Amino acid sequence: MNALISVSDKTGIVEFARALHALGIKLISTGGTAKLLADQGLPVTEVAALTGFPEMLDGRVKTLHPNVHGALLARRDVPTHMAALAQHHIDTIDLLVVNLYPFEATVARPGCTLEDAIENIDIGGPAMVRSGAKNWKDVAVLTDASQYAGVLDELKAGGAISDKTKFALSVAAFNRVSCYDGAISDYLSRIQGDGSHALFPGQANGRFIKLQDLRYGENPHQQAAFYRDLYPAPGSLVTAQQLQGKALSYNNIADADAAWECVKSFGTEAACVIVKHANPCGVALGADALQAYSRAFQTDPTSAFGGIIALNRPVDAAAAQAISQQFVEVLMAPGYTPEALDVFKSKVNVRILQIALPPNAGPGKSDWDNGRNAVDVKRIGSGLLMQTADNHELALSDLKVVSQKQPTPQQLQDLLFAWKVAKYVKSNAIVFCKDGMTMGVGAGQMSRLDSARIASIKAQHAGLSLEGTAVASDAFFPFRDGLDVVVDAGATCVIQPGGSMRDPEVIAAADERGVAMVFSGVRHFRH
Ligand code: 5GP
Repeated sequence: MNALISVSDKTGIVEFARALHALGIKLISTGGTAKLLADQGLPVTEVAALTGFPEMLDGRVKTLHPNVHGALLARRDVPTHMAALAQHHIDTIDLLVVNLYPFEATVARPGCTLEDAIENIDIGGPAMVRSGAKNWKDVAVLTDASQYAGVLDELKAGGAISDKTKFALSVAAFNRVSCYDGAISDYLSRIQGDGSHALFPGQANGRFIKLQDLRYGENPHQQAAFYRDLYPAPGSLVTAQQLQGKALSYNNIADADAAWECVKSFGTEAACVIVKHANPCGVALGADALQAYSRAFQTDPTSAFGGIIALNRPVDAAAAQAISQQFVEVLMAPGYTPEALDVFKSKVNVRILQIALPPNAGPGKSDWDNGRNAVDVKRIGSGLLMQTADNHELALSDLKVVSQKQPTPQQLQDLLFAWKVAKYVKSNAIVFCKDGMTMGVGAGQMSRLDSARIASIKAQHAGLSLEGTAVASDAFFPFRDGLDVVVDAGATCVIQPGGSMRDPEVIAAADERGVAMVFSGVRHFRH
């Protein structure tokens, strides 16, 4: 058996090659890889000896040769193929280990020039990967270091690699090449006439890897699958580890994402978010996980039934006990104490996810947020809409008091909290809050007035008083009527973007009613 090894990322390659050699497999390698293996005392044939050509053009041409591609593409079960190899003195290559020039990492570096990018477009590597993967019955193609151990186990056990494994390796190889070409096309098609880079590519390429098929989609008659970005942002839902429970459903995943994104925005304060049908139905801060959860639950215990719960603090036994009293579909947190996990042992249907918070969760955007991953994609009939993610964060200093009444420091805190929550509520959003807790959430109505009415009805049903609450409205009040509804319900301060033609009328109404009003200057539509 012959193995051709040509890797840019040399992680684990010496150990793997040593193990192949121990199994009697002949090693062939390109320049840099061959040198590394030889330095480690392994017998290795340079690919130049195989092709009869030196590697040339600064490595642009190393393996592009019939002696390589014939060895990969010949069908071992077709006599004319094998006769052609014999005629040209070509030996088969049965194992191909290739990882490509680091194009993605190169273009992700600040200051990468077009020239750097172009030099990191691998030509011969993908060509070999395609040849080997096309001939998958006869060639095992490894394109990632994570595949070394499994293949080695099979070789050690039976001296051969199963068809099942070879086919899976072939699929992974084509996926890798597709992602690689996608990254190149994506990068190049953003270049504008003046050499600068547009945020959105001229052509959108899918760079998504399937994580799992789902039992069904939003409804049982729809089929569905779950994909992740090739390079997921740290701390995002797709990086979650499921510790127990049934497989996540399509709706679970969508709601879990909404809850997790919202809870992450609270940074260092302990917070809990309960989501139902993509909207937060309870959000609260607390001294610890237990208190944050208990307060979030109080907002709307009826809706919280079967909810998706996210905490930005590890769950301890006390919080777990409290949460286990309600019907919960999914629980998410950065960690769990063993005692907390014990509480859920008997509730096998509760899906428990552990997700590391991003390194700089909370106020201030991570580098990643500012980068390519912060693009929001929405599928419409035969097309896509792309936009940068809504990662705007409001600071106290951004607020503009427009009413005669000045908000107190406590009211300003409540307004900021309400504003943070409103960003994650579907439009039209009206959110009543007090002391770091939602008191009434009106979501997803076609009229802002109805959202305001619904929020106040829900507070009544939950037995909460809206007296002295702070209210956030995700977009401006087009008329004074919306403001009147929230003030009638008990609100004493309001945050809204401002910017309506009738701002003077709405500000006059706030003054007439004696409430404080601040403008945020930004809008948070969410559809
Ligand atoms: P090495 O470090 O062994 O000199 O080079 C390994 C890299 O070369 C691998 O990433 C492999 O994909 C790439 N490679 C192999 N053959 C060719 C070729 O003919 N042309 C180009 N541009 N790259 C190649």
